[in-house]
Amino acid sequence: MNNPFQNALSQLSKATKAKQFPDSLIEGLSKPQREILVSIPVRMDDGSTRYFEGYRVQHNNVRGPYKGGIRFHPQADINEVRALAFWMTMKTAVAGIAMGGGKGGVTVDPKKLSPGELEQLSRGWVQALWRNLGPEVDVPAPDVNTTPKIMEWMSDEYEKLSGDTSRATFTGKPIEYGGSEGRTPATGLGGYYVFATLKDQAGIQDGASVAVQGMGNVGGHAATIFTENGYKVVAMSDSKGGIYKESGLDPEEVESYKKKNGSLKGFPGAKQITNAELLELPVDILIPAALENQITSDNAAKIKAKLVLELANGPTTPEADESLFGRGIPVIPDILANAGGVVVSTFEWEQNRASEHWSEIQVLEKLEKLLVEQSHNVWQRATDLNVSLRTAAFVIALERLEAAQR
Ligand code: GLU
Repeated sequence: MNNPFQNALSQLSKATKAKQFPDSLIEGLSKPQREILVSIPVRMDDGSTRYFEGYRVQHNNVRGPYKGGIRFHPQADINEVRALAFWMTMKTAVAGIAMGGGKGGVTVDPKKLSPGELEQLSRGWVQALWRNLGPEVDVPAPDVNTTPKIMEWMSDEYEKLSGDTSRATFTGKPIEYGGSEGRTPATGLGGYYVFATLKDQAGIQDGASVAVQGMGNVGGHAATIFTENGYKVVAMSDSKGGIYKESGLDPEEVESYKKKNGSLKGFPGAKQITNAELLELPVDILIPAALENQITSDNAAKIKAKLVLELANGPTTPEADESLFGRGIPVIPDILANAGGVVVSTFEWEQNRASEHWSEIQVLEKLEKLLVEQSHNVWQRATDLNVSLRTAAFVIALERLEAAQR
């Protein structure tokens, strides 16, 4: 069993071997500043009441308000949410945005809830936690299985309870409800900007082949964006399994097939594969865009990709990191590769606070500029220190956290 928070701590400890940092900084980051566990009642459609376990982990706010998504997933638990909150602290620091790190969750399979039950659960999460949130305090957002609609319910509930009408407490809202242009594709698009900045150094040619694990908001957009930019997406998957077609898939066709049929089973002209098989395909670029602990000591030696772009949080374990680094396969780490989401979330928060609405071009230009610059920083530092991109990104984040703490 891979405990994601243990993995996060071992990444932290590796960074302190590449560069020395004060013990007080490292010790402080090894524990979240605050963890809140709540029980959320939902009156089910059959008249019964069920209680769902909810969380908010406020990891660190030295650089700004706690910031990070809320995950609705049957496997969500405090260890996972704690790790995700820790990674948000590192991510906002690497991205250079004035936010801290937090994460929330509910242990639930949202696919088994009716729309009314889902709305109650979303509003219930806010009823339980609103006193600990706020534009200057903690600003949640979407994560796995949480949508703009859910952010609208949450923001509305927060407004009713707090009286704050700025809508700056939740990001990832629908555009017509105070959301930002560009927020929905931001994580996938940001991943592409980071990739495009580093691809030459990583030895990737134009038109290279790509396998994408996961078809949520992040994986779905990534597959489309890579295709639009001339890359060949040969494999895609959802939580049930995937498909492989050597001559290339049309991600939009795959999406609409999934929408119609509920899964990728029977997709014409492609080979059915498992999620494990997808990771080991002979492709140039592997994009894990689903959950943690996908590339582990069990399969790291079998990864054939020339580059791993982590759009999920925590998809690679520390042992697998070592193995890939040893084999010269660069892993562009989650805290850089998937930072586009929280960057545009921060732009949304800025717009809400200033009562502004920026154009899509404005948002995307700002996003690209920021990620290109930070990608160069991370690559340069990895070269200078002769460490992995992840360790380099951690070193940069720790320097910024140290400066803020001082
Ligand atoms: N859940 C996303 C992440 O893991 C986005 C967080 C946000 O927008 O605050 O980075």
